[in-house]
Amino acid sequence: MNTMTVTTEHPKFDAGGFSTDALWLPSSFGGATSKFLSLVLISVAVCLVMGVSSVHAASPFTIIGVPDIENETQDYPVMLQSQVDWIVNNRASQNIAFVAQQGDLTSLPTTDQFSTASNKLFQISSSAPGLPWGVLPGNHDFDRVNYINAFGPSKFAGQSWYGGAYNDSSYQTFAAGGRNYLMIDVEYNPSVSVLDWAQSVITANPGIPTIINTHDYLNSTGGRSSMGDLIFSGALTGNPDGLVYGNSQVFMVLCGHNFSSPWNQTSIDKAGQPVFENLADYQNTNSGDGYLRLYQFDETNSVIHVSTYSPYDATTPYLTDSLNQFDISMDFNARLGVVPEPTILCLLAVGGVALLMRRRKVVG
Ligand SMILES: [Zn+2]
Repeated sequence: MNTMTVTTEHPKFDAGGFSTDALWLPSSFGGATSKFLSLVLISVAVCLVMGVSSVHAASPFTIIGVPDIENETQDYPVMLQSQVDWIVNNRASQNIAFVAQQGDLTSLPTTDQFSTASNKLFQISSSAPGLPWGVLPGNHDFDRVNYINAFGPSKFAGQSWYGGAYNDSSYQTFAAGGRNYLMIDVEYNPSVSVLDWAQSVITANPGIPTIINTHDYLNSTGGRSSMGDLIFSGALTGNPDGLVYGNSQVFMVLCGHNFSSPWNQTSIDKAGQPVFENLADYQNTNSGDGYLRLYQFDETNSVIHVSTYSPYDATTPYLTDSLNQFDISMDFNARLGVVPEPTILCLLAVGGVALLMRRRKVVG
């Protein structure tokens, strides 16, 4: 190795006592070097602009909860239609990232009622292409053939966000606010093999922020039902601590089924992290009345705004009591992991390229 060649090719210049090597700068400011510096400066400027524009990437986004729709499907499909229309029409304005239905799609699991629910909900895919959504069977939906015909994996063929299914449960992936998320839809009364499957999905996607969407989990008066306890901490083949308690990437649970009152509570998992559990079910409020749950993830303000809205009920479009409208405080980076800043990634890339160019010039 001839280091003298380096010195010969890159004579020092007076830079106020610093050598060009110390500054990792090329040997002069003339000709190609000036172009090099211009390129680096322009790249840095682009990085800073990217950093500013990344504020838009962290804009609030919304996950829509569609609680038990059994009475709407059976008696008032116009209510369900108003919900689907609102979701489609407000996808952009609400920055809707996912639509999660909590089961009890039908009151009686007949082909007719499944056909009504399926025809309405699949309008999400036909009218809002690419918007991910998921359902699961509640206790009213147990005609397995009818459920699979209406909402089984073949109905989601070709949707890139559809992850897969086991028994009557399924999972989806979506990206929002700079993060990738996992939604696992766990059927009513899940067997241990169903929960083992859900664990295998989490194991295959380590660290991805995960929401469990299910039917019977919380009681209206607080606390979990026996089925909720099974989902929370029932011992699994791949995880003795259970699906929610034993996986710190699970930060939220959505559920329905119990209709006397909504409920929300925060449980603590094995790692000491909060899990935000939310029950909503309006089946006995004018048969559902078109009420949706809006979970607005506002990363800038470290909060999830929860509201309850009906596009059908013009008299009382919002339920504003404290059980239906509240904020969940969450430091997104602390709970879900840090998303690398685009500016920093970009500056590292520019620095790397500059070093490579410098080294190539030195060696060459
Ligand atoms: Zn139910």
